[in-house]
Amino acid sequence: MIASILPTYSRAPLTFVSGQGSWLTEADGRRFLDLGAGIAVNALGHAHPALVEALSGQANALWHVSNLYNIPAQQQLADALVDKTFADTVFFTNSGTEACELAVKMARKYWYDQGQPDRTEIITFSGSFHGRSSAGIAAAGSEKMTKGFGPLLPGFTHLDFGDHDALQAAITDNTAAIMVEPIQGEGGIRPLPDACLKGLRDVCDENGVLMILDEVQCGMGRTGKLFAHEWAGVTPDIMMVAKGIGGGFPLGAVLATENAASGMTAGTHGSTYGGNPLACAVGAKVMDIIADDDFLAEVNRKAGLLRQKLEGLVAAHPDVFESVRGSGLMLGLKCKAPNADLVKAGFAEGVLCVPAADNVVRLLPALNIKDEDIGEAAERLDAAASRVKGANA
Ligand SMILES: *Cc1c(COP(=O)(O)O)cnc(C)c1O
Repeated sequence: MIASILPTYSRAPLTFVSGQGSWLTEADGRRFLDLGAGIAVNALGHAHPALVEALSGQANALWHVSNLYNIPAQQQLADALVDKTFADTVFFTNSGTEACELAVKMARKYWYDQGQPDRTEIITFSGSFHGRSSAGIAAAGSEKMTKGFGPLLPGFTHLDFGDHDALQAAITDNTAAIMVEPIQGEGGIRPLPDACLKGLRDVCDENGVLMILDEVQCGMGRTGKLFAHEWAGVTPDIMMVAKGIGGGFPLGAVLATENAASGMTAGTHGSTYGGNPLACAVGAKVMDIIADDDFLAEVNRKAGLLRQKLEGLVAAHPDVFESVRGSGLMLGLKCKAPNADLVKAGFAEGVLCVPAADNVVRLLPALNIKDEDIGEAAERLDAAASRVKGANA
């Protein structure tokens, strides 16, 4: 008999009942150090007092009004995003996959309005992840995500990650946009080198193609800049954001330049919940805290600390780990042993991390993780690695 929850997830036998900072408490009382943060969602940890206050304050005032009316928290968050980024305008969604939907629609509408209605093709890369909607799975294109779900949304060209010649060859008069994650998350913490992101921007400029960055996982301070593309000194035309922006409340956004957004006039797109007062009250507070030079400097310092510990871990367990990769607090341990074994050993040691493709274990802790918790993380991961080695010996 089918489970009462559609069985699309394979869940660990853990039930968390409360959280505080980087720690979660299981129903049986055990405490776990959370290095997954809801897959880069709990950017400020669990139960951050300022976020609790923002949410409960809004909950006491007004939960929901339609986008038929002004929503002050939404305006505040949009203004902050426009102020701190390349963007001139923002549309709010509830998730990353909805941000993908709009990014695709916006790019296509742009070319339609430029009198080039056949210019619909979007170039994406192997190992990418853009969400689970029909556009999202067609964009990623992997068999794992698309098999059985055809016919797929047409208009995506899939290239091998890092194949420069294929990119040049793939661009035609019908190329509308290139969509890419500055650091692949689900794909296994695979960063696009700064030089490649710059190169992609040049290719876009030379061919008049729009650049769509998917910063759903790597954005919102995760790499030590507000958005990961800032490291490369380039800006996109359209950007997808979600995960960390809501600090745990469902929220996403599409940011765009005035030019790229020019086709999206009244009535061309909408969302019942997107930009809801509760979500935006929390999002505005998250933005307040993260888009701050001192906060981001601390993310970089903590990232250095964690990275150093992880390098030590790799050196100490050469049969379990191969290398550390990633940027800021978006780090991956490339494993030699099966990554699932390490995640499971972590459960036994009270530390949570997240598997990714390419046999990688992801570490995406809260951006404000305490230094002492970074030390604790290293100790628990060390113990977990010893368990894995023991089991494989
Ligand atoms: C998680 C993720 C998405 C999808 O976001 P959802 O909120 O799960 O719909 C899209 N792109 C990237 C890079 C992601 O990491």
